[in-house]
Amino acid sequence: MINADLHCHSIVSDGTLAPAEVAKIAAEASVELWALTDHDELGGQSEARAAAEAFGMRYVSGVEISITWAGRTVHMLGLGINADDPLLIQNLAAMRDGRSLRAKQMGLQLLNAVGISDAYAGALKYVGKHGLISRTHFARYLVEIGQCKSISDVFSRYLTEGKPGYVAHCWATLEDAVKWIHDAQGIAVVAHPGRYKFSSLEFSGLFDSFRDLGGEAIEVVTGSHTPEQYREYADIARRYNFLASRGSDFHGPTQGRAQLGKLPPLPEGLIPVWSRWY
Ligand code: AMP
Ligand code: MN
Ligand code: MN
Ligand code: MN
Repeated sequence: MINADLHCHSIVSDGTLAPAEVAKIAAEASVELWALTDHDELGGQSEARAAAEAFGMRYVSGVEISITWAGRTVHMLGLGINADDPLLIQNLAAMRDGRSLRAKQMGLQLLNAVGISDAYAGALKYVGKHGLISRTHFARYLVEIGQCKSISDVFSRYLTEGKPGYVAHCWATLEDAVKWIHDAQGIAVVAHPGRYKFSSLEFSGLFDSFRDLGGEAIEVVTGSHTPEQYREYADIARRYNFLASRGSDFHGPTQGRAQLGKLPPLPEGLIPVWSRWY
């Protein structure tokens, strides 16, 4: 099996490093096939591709699209897309628009109301030049000021459903995201399915709808899955005839998550998503 890592973030979304710096780490980890998949933004793709090719890695363009399905946020990777597709760029820009207003509500209203007064300005310090603001940027600031001891502590105390800094947000629909990806010649991949708090009925609904829309793949081996979840989603991939993907969901060397290119291989008997490009 080749060392493929098809899920990573740069400072273009909520990672900490420039795309070329992420490429360097991938190359040092002997990654052979790489994709940078920033949230809702393609602004890092040309730098990532150029750096990957300079390091002798194969590159596929990628994006991680935020979706709202059954009232919850689901992430979908688009892999092998044409990163210059004008319609995809335009659709992502439109759905990204709401992030700024949401961030102001989070920072200026909600977190302010619980006594954290500078959260919006504080979060902005961590945002890259493309301007995409995410909950992760707030989390970094709350750790910086000692309000919480870790990023995950911020999420569980402030930034998730039912917590004082949470703003419900409506992202793209499942239908739209699959269509945008397909129209840009990409493959649609349900990211880290193990992270969603769905009932088994809801999971069946999600995978059935995704398959019926022509969705091709799910992530099986990814940074937030346990070994038990590798097996669980390998079974789902076999049952639905989904291709299987592998990606760390790397956000930076100090971000306390999986490191790039270091995850175990896909379980036996799965068809890797990269069979489409090899
Ligand atoms: P947003 O797109 O602004 O809603 O932010 C979502 C991002 O927050 C995800 O892509 C993760 O990087 C990060 N995130 C979500 N939940 C957690 C968590 N429990 N711990 C650390 N990071 C998280
Ligand atoms: Mn993220
Ligand atoms: Mn995600
Ligand atoms: Mn991700």
